[in-house]
Amino acid sequence: MTHLWWARRDLRLDDNPALLEAQSDGPAAAVFAWTEAVHLWSGRRRAHLARSLWSLRDDTGGALAVARGRAAEVVLAAAQEADARVVWAAKEFSPAGVAEQQAVSEALEGDGRELRLHGSPYAVAPGRVLKSDGTPYRVYTPFLDAWRGHGWRAPAERADPDAFVSLGSLDDVDLDQRAAHGDSEDPIDPHHEFREERLRAALEDFIDGDVAGYAQDRDRPDLDATSHLSSALAFGQVHPRTVLAMLAPLRSDGSRVFQAELAWREFHADTLWHEPQARRESLTPVLAEDDWETGRDADDAFVAWRDGRTGFPLVDAGMRQLAQTGWMHNRVRMVVASFLIKDLRLPWQRGADHFRRALVDYDHAQNQLNWQWVAGTGRDAAPFFRIFNPQSQLERFDPDRRYVQRWIPELDTPEYPEPLVDHREERETTLRLHKRAKARR
Ligand SMILES: Cc1cc2nc3c(=O)[nH]c(=O)nc-3n(C[C@H](O)[C@H](O)[C@H](O)COP(=O)(O)OP(=O)(O)OC[C@H]3O[C@@H](n4cnc5c(N)ncnc54)[C@H](O)[C@@H]3O)c2cc1C
Repeated sequence: MTHLWWARRDLRLDDNPALLEAQSDGPAAAVFAWTEAVHLWSGRRRAHLARSLWSLRDDTGGALAVARGRAAEVVLAAAQEADARVVWAAKEFSPAGVAEQQAVSEALEGDGRELRLHGSPYAVAPGRVLKSDGTPYRVYTPFLDAWRGHGWRAPAERADPDAFVSLGSLDDVDLDQRAAHGDSEDPIDPHHEFREERLRAALEDFIDGDVAGYAQDRDRPDLDATSHLSSALAFGQVHPRTVLAMLAPLRSDGSRVFQAELAWREFHADTLWHEPQARRESLTPVLAEDDWETGRDADDAFVAWRDGRTGFPLVDAGMRQLAQTGWMHNRVRMVVASFLIKDLRLPWQRGADHFRRALVDYDHAQNQLNWQWVAGTGRDAAPFFRIFNPQSQLERFDPDRRYVQRWIPELDTPEYPEPLVDHREERETTLRLHKRAKARR
């Protein structure tokens, strides 16, 4: 009997337990739902999705159907067309993913079919790592130890690229046209590779080479010292278990630190699973509601930040890198976020919404919880009083100014704007307001 694989954030054949289950009784049908939500993304991220699907379709011998509509409608129609009683998919843990799989499950049940969830986008599924009293970890370091202690499975074998049946008539998204569209709209960053095989090869290269220096260089935006794996993890072309298995035999500091970064990804997903309100609400308040800036001046400041015209080179270089490539270095993400929240006193949600539209590697849990981390409002966040100084961060992490010069051609000319605010004054005001808010709580 044919089973259906509902592809979600797991666009790969390798190490994909849900897909293997779907193929366990013979060739499987495969479908991806191109939902309305995709239309809120940037053209670049949408094009990246189209390219990734195009590549996956190629890897399935043309069998993957990509159909427009809500997941519940698309998956039900595909199950009916394939005459599949059982649909397999990876389990999601974000509030939207949970609601989606619930709706799909109900639609299938109403038609005498069944959704079976197997595997997830994480090495250890959110909710699994708990303290001895059964409650979730609130602090990252003990979570990391417990997560390492819990361990994970070895990667699953590769699915059979020849064991697919086509669902031709369902397909109604022109991937060729969509994939090409992003190209004309935005030059694509060469780092945004979208083919599973090449992503895997790039990962192998990184682990054989740069990971050794990762502990030392990962905070330097002027060096290309990080893996650029984030969009492959967000779209699921690579599973973190595969990465962890590659790291296992290594003993360098770099490989250990790299593993710990993957654990941040799991920690944030775990936090959102236990506290779904964290997607919009601060877990800990830091300022009184009316201390955040609003009105025309606040809107102008936001636009200057968004467009990379604050007069603070590291902030501006980061925002331009984001605008031009859809990716930004992690250290710089922290600096621009701190600047928005603590220098401009704009709520973190505003910055997070902009990142959602602009990042190719956008991942709901990672984005919202990293913003909360910088804002000092998260579960194990940086203390609010730690305010990044954009100038000293520049001196420390881009000592030869190569990164800022690369992204701001007019940097040392009169065209470059004067600083939008006085960092020292804003810092003092923000800290004073924070103290007052704390005293009133
Ligand atoms: C304000 C802000 C917003 C962010 N939004 C996102 C987002 O939407 N999607 C996203 O994937 N990452 C996000 N990050 C985390 C981090 O910046 C990116 O994962 C990283 O820069 C991606 O580049 P890389 O793959 O070369 O990272 P590497 O340094 O090579 O790290 C390897 C992998 O570890 C994980 N990782 C590294 N740092 C973090 C971190 N701080 N939190 C969670 N996982 C981490 C990522 O999966 C990353 O791909 C955000 C960080 C900040 C400060």
